[in-house]
Amino acid sequence: MITTETPEHTALRQAVAALGNRHGRDHDREALWREAGKLGYLGVNLPEQYGGGGCGITELSIVLEELGAAGCPLLMLVVSPAICGTVIARFGTEEQKRRWLPGLADGTRTMAFGITEPDAGSNSHRITTTARRDGTDWLLTGRKVFISGVDIADATLVVGRTEDARTGRLKPCLFIVPRDAPGFERRRIDMELHAEEKQFELTLDDVRLPAGALVGDEDAGLLQLFAGLNPERVMTAAFGIGMGRYALARAVEYARERTVWKTPIGAHQAIAHPLAQAHIDLELARLMMREAARLYDAGDDAGAGEAANMAKYAAGEACVRAVDQAVHTLGGNGLTREFGLASLITAARVSRIAPVSREMILNYVSHQTLGLPKSY
Ligand SMILES: Cc1cc2nc3c(=O)[nH]c(=O)nc-3n(C[C@H](O)[C@H](O)[C@H](O)COP(=O)(O)OP(=O)(O)OC[C@H]3O[C@@H](n4cnc5c(N)ncnc54)[C@H](O)[C@@H]3O)c2cc1C
Repeated sequence: MITTETPEHTALRQAVAALGNRHGRDHDREALWREAGKLGYLGVNLPEQYGGGGCGITELSIVLEELGAAGCPLLMLVVSPAICGTVIARFGTEEQKRRWLPGLADGTRTMAFGITEPDAGSNSHRITTTARRDGTDWLLTGRKVFISGVDIADATLVVGRTEDARTGRLKPCLFIVPRDAPGFERRRIDMELHAEEKQFELTLDDVRLPAGALVGDEDAGLLQLFAGLNPERVMTAAFGIGMGRYALARAVEYARERTVWKTPIGAHQAIAHPLAQAHIDLELARLMMREAARLYDAGDDAGAGEAANMAKYAAGEACVRAVDQAVHTLGGNGLTREFGLASLITAARVSRIAPVSREMILNYVSHQTLGLPKSY
């Protein structure tokens, strides 16, 4: 691995890799989550005064990448400390910070995040989950889809809009909805994904929430939301890079040994070159991910936006290609349960479609960076 990172980052990487390797591909998600929490890895980005590590998304992305490279990515890291923890730390009230951050940091509490809606999809300006005031309370009504880990999360940070902002440009407001709040129902979606974290369709039917459930300012809008979405993109990049590295390492091990002619198959350039390309693509994606994390941690939300999108794009593509080539390298064994690579084919696609699809990133770069006109 080419690296110019600090000795502290290298030490963190090695320590997390050791933890990941102890748990491995057949890990028990809960046991790994607990141990990572105790060791301070889950909340490495959260403020020290609330039990976190006082570092940034740079460090949290190292944690997720290394767990992924060991075959045990923790998807909820993308959501719980990276999105929810960040939003609460930056915009929450003192009471919300005290109530949530220590638990998110040590892993004893988890929070899911829900923005995607069935009728809005990639067009989050169309979300219709609506909050209306009832005295000092809020009543939240709407539907969400593909929300990860709602069953294992103590609460979900739900993105809605206030009644008076139902039309026009999105002015999002964020609510903490406890898992068992009356009117908050979940239905598990039957995904073709081999992952411990499940996806859910949610219905919110006049869910009554106290005033203190609103995170931040109802008028701060997109600024607050993007504070959480840039870390989400960086962390999805880490998820993809970790998974790509895991698959590539298995393929390289196999290609060094497997011999069906005179030499191991890895000596044939038709096998070696695509693996080398996959390695280069993953390294390039990591460079952009680090740059995005650096900008974000330096407080440059706008600069981080472009870099985080590009990192997520590069990592998603690199991951899908690395997994595809890894499976192919193993021939028939690539499709056996024993070698455990085939299930990564669908898992890798997650980093291409979520939290923002490949096409929507290409749209962003076309319009925002290149200044091309829009078709939608
Ligand atoms: C495993 C998994 C976990 C997820 N977890 C969460 C979660 O925890 N919380 C959450 O809120 N969401 C979550 N999501 C949802 C995810 O963010 C959405 O699936 C994603 O944003 C795409 O939305 P969609 O599925 O509605 O696709 P659509 O918006 O319907 O898009 C379908 C296709 O059309 C393309 N497309 C759409 N518009 C355009 C355009 N203007 N130009 C070109 N192409 C376009 C898209 O790129 C895509 O290929 C998760 C999804 C998955 C698969």
